[in-house]
Amino acid sequence: MNAGPWLPVPPHGYGGIENVIATLVPELRRLGVEIVLATVGDSELPAEERLAAYPSGRFEQLQRPYNQVCGVVPAHQHAVVRRLDRGDIDLIHDHVEAAGLTMLAGLGVDAPPGLHTLHWDLRKHPELYGTFNGGSRVRVNGVSADQLTHAPAALRAHAVGHVHLATPLADGADRRPPAEKGAYAVVLGRITPGKGQDLAVRLAHAAGFDLVLAGPVGPYQQPADLEAADPQNPDVRFWQEKVAPHVDGDRVRWVGTVAGADRDDLVAAAQATLFPLRWNEPGGTAVVESLALGTPVVGIARGCLPELVEHGRTGLITTDDEELGELVHAAGKIPEFECRAEAARRFTPAVMAEAYLSLYEKVRTAGHG
Ligand code: UDP
Repeated sequence: MNAGPWLPVPPHGYGGIENVIATLVPELRRLGVEIVLATVGDSELPAEERLAAYPSGRFEQLQRPYNQVCGVVPAHQHAVVRRLDRGDIDLIHDHVEAAGLTMLAGLGVDAPPGLHTLHWDLRKHPELYGTFNGGSRVRVNGVSADQLTHAPAALRAHAVGHVHLATPLADGADRRPPAEKGAYAVVLGRITPGKGQDLAVRLAHAAGFDLVLAGPVGPYQQPADLEAADPQNPDVRFWQEKVAPHVDGDRVRWVGTVAGADRDDLVAAAQATLFPLRWNEPGGTAVVESLALGTPVVGIARGCLPELVEHGRTGLITTDDEELGELVHAAGKIPEFECRAEAARRFTPAVMAEAYLSLYEKVRTAGHG
């Protein structure tokens, strides 16, 4: 299970991919799968074995100039490839953007088959995805059907299906008592143009609802960290130009990255979790977390949102930016129990792990073809 060199598993707050792996691995182990986890040294997720090229996550380097950081992923991948020499790995499940896919394709014919989970916007890297050929040993899966629909044909030819993301919060979500609701909406996620916090803050003022933004700006987790921020960082620019001018600390607040129980309480007490998407959100961990916590999802109907959210039952979705503000006010009519019950049915770790196990079988069969 290749989690990459960026963040520990589980992450201490933000970490979409690392959260998925932290959810998947325990469930696979319960099903009898032995896991070698390729991660960073301070990961705490139990596994049969952990390997790491770095003592801790390199997340703060993720958006640095290429010539400064181009060795980070290769150093990690090198450790993964060397571990294969022992010959006891049956399958590689890789989660490292772009480089993981090419690593799998570059392994020799005797290497184990590989499944690469596509967690990203597949319009990136067209020269790679548009020409990719991993032979019969490499397969990919999406995190939503919509994501694969938009994938280049060469990549789709390697696809074995999609698996929706899951959250441990979905376990028993239908049996938890409802949380007491506050009077605010929340946007949970990286503060970045695709996630549309600029639209959220504008609508909060225009439509008159209180809004809490939670999540990092690039590598900067808390407001104080931004004082020394790299002004060239694209997410910092987005924050400074498009979001911060509307954050008045009253109608709109930014609370930095929130983790653990604080994050769950913040989402559970919100009237709605807002997804003012400007990109085709591929998987949306935060979407399924919101449902599991009994908070309706309000957002732009694109990417994975229409697959995860049923309009009128577990949330309200629209293709019209301006209508979103009204939908936040209407979110109270969505029964919060429906959200929790839907999460308990569709987005539990067990559902996700069973789906991956069946993909592993497909990958192994293809690899022997
Ligand atoms: N997250 C968090 N604290 C924050 C913001 C985000 O714990 O302040 C978590 C969030 O709960 C989710 C993940 O980070 O589990 C974001 O994953 P998602 O797939 O929604 O977004 P992406 O991976 O694209 O950033």
